Amino acid sequence: MSVVLEAIERKKFGGELSEELIQAVVEGYTSGETPDYQMSSLLMAIFIHGMEYEETLALTRAMAESGEHYSFPKCVDKHSTGGVGDKISLISLPIVAACGAPVAKLSGRGLGQTGGTIDKLESITGFSANLSQEQFYAQVEEIGLAITEAGDLAPADKAIYALRDTTGTVDSLPLIGSSIVSKKVATGAGHLLYDVKCGSGAFMKSPDEARELAELLVRLSESLGIRASALITAMDNPLGSAIGNALEVREAVHLLKGEPVPDDLAHESRLVAVRLLGLKGIQNPEEAVEKSISSGSAYEKLQEFVQAQGGDVNILEDLPVSDEIREVRSPQNGYVSRFAALDVGQAALALGAGREKKDDEVDPGAGVEMLVKPGDWIEKDQPVARLYGRRNIERAEGLIEGALEISEEPVEPAPAILDSL
Ligand code: URA
Repeated sequence: MSVVLEAIERKKFGGELSEELIQAVVEGYTSGETPDYQMSSLLMAIFIHGMEYEETLALTRAMAESGEHYSFPKCVDKHSTGGVGDKISLISLPIVAACGAPVAKLSGRGLGQTGGTIDKLESITGFSANLSQEQFYAQVEEIGLAITEAGDLAPADKAIYALRDTTGTVDSLPLIGSSIVSKKVATGAGHLLYDVKCGSGAFMKSPDEARELAELLVRLSESLGIRASALITAMDNPLGSAIGNALEVREAVHLLKGEPVPDDLAHESRLVAVRLLGLKGIQNPEEAVEKSISSGSAYEKLQEFVQAQGGDVNILEDLPVSDEIREVRSPQNGYVSRFAALDVGQAALALGAGREKKDDEVDPGAGVEMLVKPGDWIEKDQPVARLYGRRNIERAEGLIEGALEISEEPVEPAPAILDSL
């Protein structure tokens, strides 16, 4: 009997898979020896019966070891499970680098309504996320901050994830946990903060589900030698006010220059930076974070990093966005109770800020700027959002109109941080 068939036979009755068997299955599928139909059968059995912790750990390790491997034991890294308007990496990473915690980050591009850090950075003219291994290590050493595109990292996860995506087996806790942590282990940072998003605009819809995932991510990471912790943060509304690549870089620059940004973004970015410094054992992290912003050192670190990767720093202050702008107005008086993240993200996507399919071309200047946040009082006909971009304007407008929920009663905005571990 082939190894994959042996695994299917065991898992379909809820049995446990040994580490050796998991290793052999992962190798067989990555090498192309195991056909998709057998691997999908196994994935569905895992989806239905779950996995014990030791099995999930073995799967994580096998996927992490399936391709390139970096080693940055002194570096910090963060991972967000994906949200709308989430530009926290662009803010918190220059801050922590300016405070003496080096950052080596491998990032991806956006797919669907969640943006990717690489797409955001590429809205800066000249910026390249295509660093060789030597350039990547040298830049971390020299300026303490480098971000490159994840190359052949954990190829087993890439292959298995693509199969899960088409076989209804994405939303399985052990499969999600092992997928995320395998890439982090291959990236090799010694200190890691997970930002697990929770809400209608996120993968995890309830705080209990989000906490379960956060606990698994931290436990797997610690078992594999990474010092880790996690935050669970709200994603019912977009974070901050900008959604779209250049728009989000602009908002990140505002915060780093000490200019006002919405409270949720200001609070969450600082907390992520503080937690990363805490993982690294840096004393008085709150004070260090505030000082890096007020002294300008965090913004200087962003400039240094952008310049090192070929970006035009002069443009950072006033990054070009689309000159095709349309305002959406409120249909009535009332208090904003919600600006639904999923719909706003889809509006930005329709305008060209993201990809509906893998090969779609992104418009760096497209997106949505929200002019109001939950809790705000608004008048009929008051502009509530600005749309940037030339594509699908009517569709985007309809999505924004549908995203805005208005209440007659005053609304207390929900907290940005729901839980932490
Ligand atoms: N993100 C990942 O990297 N993997 C998953 O399985 C889900 C989200």
